[in-house]
Amino acid sequence: MKNRRNKLLLAGLLLVSALAQAQDSLVTRCASTERDSVRLLKNPSLRNLRMRSEAAIQDYLRGRSGARTNAGEVVTIPVVVHVVHNRADNVIGGPNNGNITDAQIQSQIDVLNEDYGNKSGYKGYYTDSLAVDTGIRFRLVSVVRTYNATSQFSPITDADELAGISPAWFTNRYLNIWVTRLNDRYLGTSQFPVVTEINARTEGLATTENEETDALTDGVIIDFRYFGRNSDAITSRIYNLGRTTTHEVGHWLGLIHIWGDTTCGTDYCDDTPTANTKNETTDVSCSAVYSQCQGNVVTRNMIENYMDYSPDVCMSIFTNDQKERMHAVLALSPRRAKMVEYSKISTDNLLVDIYPNPVRETLTADVFTPGLENYTVSVYNQKGQKMMADAVNRTYLNVRNFPSGLYFYKVSTANQTVTKRFVVR
Ligand SMILES: [Zn+2]
Repeated sequence: MKNRRNKLLLAGLLLVSALAQAQDSLVTRCASTERDSVRLLKNPSLRNLRMRSEAAIQDYLRGRSGARTNAGEVVTIPVVVHVVHNRADNVIGGPNNGNITDAQIQSQIDVLNEDYGNKSGYKGYYTDSLAVDTGIRFRLVSVVRTYNATSQFSPITDADELAGISPAWFTNRYLNIWVTRLNDRYLGTSQFPVVTEINARTEGLATTENEETDALTDGVIIDFRYFGRNSDAITSRIYNLGRTTTHEVGHWLGLIHIWGDTTCGTDYCDDTPTANTKNETTDVSCSAVYSQCQGNVVTRNMIENYMDYSPDVCMSIFTNDQKERMHAVLALSPRRAKMVEYSKISTDNLLVDIYPNPVRETLTADVFTPGLENYTVSVYNQKGQKMMADAVNRTYLNVRNFPSGLYFYKVSTANQTVTKRFVVR
């Protein structure tokens, strides 16, 4: 009898333990690939652009190898965190509260700077030989808190909705991070950058109407229970050190999962070993995982890489090729390149640049407003008639239906106005 009770107790313990494991293993670190599939479905031409983007990155890396002019330069990315919570009384902090504390938010910025600076503290099999400082840092600019009754959001389809609730700050100036509760089973998601080929006029800056729409949702979305570290809002024992955000920001800077999202796929980085698949595990002991991708050769997976799915505690590596790829994206992706450029500007003047000029189809405007000011755009023809009235923060203009001739593009903030001429032909 006693024996039977012990057996039952043991069975019960095993069940509890299995459930605990199952609970943790039900989650998936990242929905970026799924989100990207939906984006590609909506906009099939993006698939072509994506292939050309990859070619542009490879060309850039080949041309620049060994000749980087900005090798030692550190890029600091300004970050805006949008906390979208359903806590009607606006109380901040505490278990199971999406209205997370400033301390939790700052802890995530600290994690980003440690991880991108090669200071994660964990030493894995490959860490000493292949981990590098990426030369990328992060600075918290603002926290925007918004109450919304919605209890949870989809990481795959709700980026628009989140951006509607808490609009992105200019996505060519800031990394926007929305922190909320996600449904399904995902911890976070990211919008991949669009990369364009460089030419003299449009160095990294081509903009289309699809791009304009994408610009509104450009950023990452993280479930608040996996954002930062050392907070009672964080309950996972696997994804508890803020590395979901490190991973998603990696996607935002153009990195791909180290298994290439298919069996033995490529991430276009030679210094990450090819892997059969993701390291999705509930084992936090960081045990070795092996792959067999080329004939009989067995290789050890780089489970320490931030672009794998390993438990947070096992992660410590961005490689040099990943670093180079991120810097290529910072140079080639329209909004990322602009962000780097703007981060170096200090002026009180409103700056406006429009192109191409003359224009046949889409006129693009780069507008820099000092501080965080919004701006309005109006367009006039030669007779002084308004062709477009007071659009807020507009960055493109479709001129296909404009008669040929001379036009004026007027940008205003509260205190300044800049007007530029352009020709439609
Ligand atoms: Zn991912």
